[in-house]
Amino acid sequence: MIIVFVGAPGSGKGTHARRTAERCGFSHVSTGDLLRDAVDKDTPLGRKAHEFMAAGKLVPDEIMMDLIGGLLDGSDGGEGIIFDGFPRTLAQAEGMDELLEGRGLKVDKALLVDISEDEAVERLALRVSCPKCGAVHNLASNPPKVEGVCDECGGKLEVRPDDREETVRARFKEFRRLTEPVIDYYRSQGTLASVSTSGPVEEVAANVAAALDACGGSPNESSAG
Ligand SMILES: [Zn+2]
Repeated sequence: MIIVFVGAPGSGKGTHARRTAERCGFSHVSTGDLLRDAVDKDTPLGRKAHEFMAAGKLVPDEIMMDLIGGLLDGSDGGEGIIFDGFPRTLAQAEGMDELLEGRGLKVDKALLVDISEDEAVERLALRVSCPKCGAVHNLASNPPKVEGVCDECGGKLEVRPDDREETVRARFKEFRRLTEPVIDYYRSQGTLASVSTSGPVEEVAANVAAALDACGGSPNESSAG
């Protein structure tokens, strides 16, 4: 079972991908983790990837494909893998299908965790973090005890540059440009499901589970409760 999570900045895609993996006993693969792991283990691919990362460049698709191929070879796709943040482009989606096909696998489900641009701007502006210790607070759901001050270390909480409105709008534009073709691709394959992120996180999590028929199995299986 191979599931791909797609979502714009602020959608909470990563959170729901991780929770789904835990709930279903699947492995959770984020591009960031995959790259960090290869770099930490100092594999030949990791060394190549590191050159690009150190230069502040995106790691090219060929390297990503080789990393994912290696991951697939080291695992039984039947156990369940959730991809979080990959594929990001149509070229990656097509390349991934080729890799999977060669191994008798396919993307069983693509889940779009959907959020509007304005809602993402609003949501990310509520997220503040401590530059000193990295603690993260949400001003709505998990506010610090003292306004603007980190509970952990007393540092000054701030909105990360990545989460400021103009940056979020630019990230959204980039997401639409690169990733909307990926969404269309899975839609045309009939594997796309979509969940709106409006509403409390538990409600969204329940909708995610329903959209995936619990863990991607048949609709009548283990979805009770
Ligand atoms: Zn702190």
